[in-house]
Amino acid sequence: MLERALDLLFPPRCICCHASGSALCLRCAPVRAPLRRLVFGIEVRALAPYDGVWRRAVLALKDGRRDVAATLGERLGAALRAEDRHLVGIPTSFSRRIRRGFDGGERLAYLAAESGERATSRSLLFVARDRQRGRSRAERLVARDRFRGAGEMLVGTSVTLVDDVCTTGATLADAARALRARGAIVERAIVVALTDLGRKRGER
Ligand SMILES: [Zn+2]
Repeated sequence: MLERALDLLFPPRCICCHASGSALCLRCAPVRAPLRRLVFGIEVRALAPYDGVWRRAVLALKDGRRDVAATLGERLGAALRAEDRHLVGIPTSFSRRIRRGFDGGERLAYLAAESGERATSRSLLFVARDRQRGRSRAERLVARDRFRGAGEMLVGTSVTLVDDVCTTGATLADAARALRARGAIVERAIVVALTDLGRKRGER
């Protein structure tokens, strides 16, 4: 409610060309067919490659820009398929959540579900410990058990993971593991952007 009122007073502007209306206009960031890659057995769909205006948008999201989150959430919502009924956002660490004021992945899942017709979002993942911190990239690639799954209603439920960026897919795989331990079926993810590394891995 408050956000809507603020939108009326200060309409969002494109982070690229500053046109009024949305944080990412259709001219600067046109809607394209999603990129698709398979990482760790999860079909990852991405709105765009992680470069140019999309990279700027993801960085703005990480900076806590709510207008950017709203636009990216809408774009993800529009890209959902019929089978994306249950969305689960990837939570960030507690310290990042405090810095941003919201949780990127969970916020995106919530907004995508809100803008879609049939999907719902649930916060079913918790950061068990922030093990990524201070680790080298090689260590992060094999990082496991970063998340804990919650909820007793997951058995046999097919969920779609939601996150901002997919790089190696290790985070998605780790989140999937935590939800599968609760009985969920996790075969799909939708993200805003896919990095080169993520694309190359998927293409192998
Ligand atoms: Zn623009």
